[in-house]
Amino acid sequence: MKDIKLKHQNGKPLEIKIKGQKIGRGHYTMIAGPCTIENHEDLLAIAVELKKMGIHFFRGGAYKMRTSPYNFQGLGKKGLEFMKRVADETGMISVSEVVSTEDVEMIKEYVDILQVGTRNMSNYRLLLRLGKVNNPIILKRGFSSTIEEWLLAAEHIIEAGNSKVILCERGIRTYETYTRYTLDISAIPAIKELSNLPIIVDPSHSSGRREMIKSLSWAAIAAGADGLLIETHFSPDKTVCDSKQTIDLEMLKDIIEGNKKLLNLWD
Ligand code: PEP
Ligand code: MN
Repeated sequence: MKDIKLKHQNGKPLEIKIKGQKIGRGHYTMIAGPCTIENHEDLLAIAVELKKMGIHFFRGGAYKMRTSPYNFQGLGKKGLEFMKRVADETGMISVSEVVSTEDVEMIKEYVDILQVGTRNMSNYRLLLRLGKVNNPIILKRGFSSTIEEWLLAAEHIIEAGNSKVILCERGIRTYETYTRYTLDISAIPAIKELSNLPIIVDPSHSSGRREMIKSLSWAAIAAGADGLLIETHFSPDKTVCDSKQTIDLEMLKDIIEGNKKLLNLWD
């Protein structure tokens, strides 16, 4: 790894500014919201509650990459329209996944931050296209990718012209089956050592288990993560997608309270 010359990732920590918010070292970015957008009403209700908690970023998937073709695939463009409406109604910053190269130009008009999912981390044509937009990009780690491969994927976006890349550790595949994936906590200090990019953590997809989200969130903040991305819904059991790992608003409040104490470790 030491021999790898990461042309773009040395130097002072990258600070991304968006709609009055800052993302990067020393700023703690909380992104929450449902796995998938189901309708405007619920998305707005969630975003309003998040805003009351002081959260500025909300997430929701319009295009879902489901392992089974028989599972709900997302609302598509209709979902993006809801995303934009809720961002306008609340003044919050939206995050949604782009799954295909041909969608990039369209999605960037609806969503503030574009997410690349774990299955697309090595889709270099998509990364190249994302290098041509102005929106910040959340680049999730491929679940079978090394830290080096992940950083080189980020380099593809940066080299193509967009330096606003946020890395998201979301668990890797190991032999463990109790959890959906295994959260690689060591990736956090590794990325901070090797790169100037913000590193956030998704405890939801890494564990697949609601009862673990608090511990993993706190572990991530204690390890120095610059933020969290957590699947949250006012009624998790009623969601069409990933309900087992989705937490309710009360649990999110608990996590935020604990984070305040843990962030002191890094002052
Ligand atoms: C998501 O965040 O909605 C998602 C599908 O995550 P991942 O790509 O990490 O599985
Ligand atoms: Mn999900």
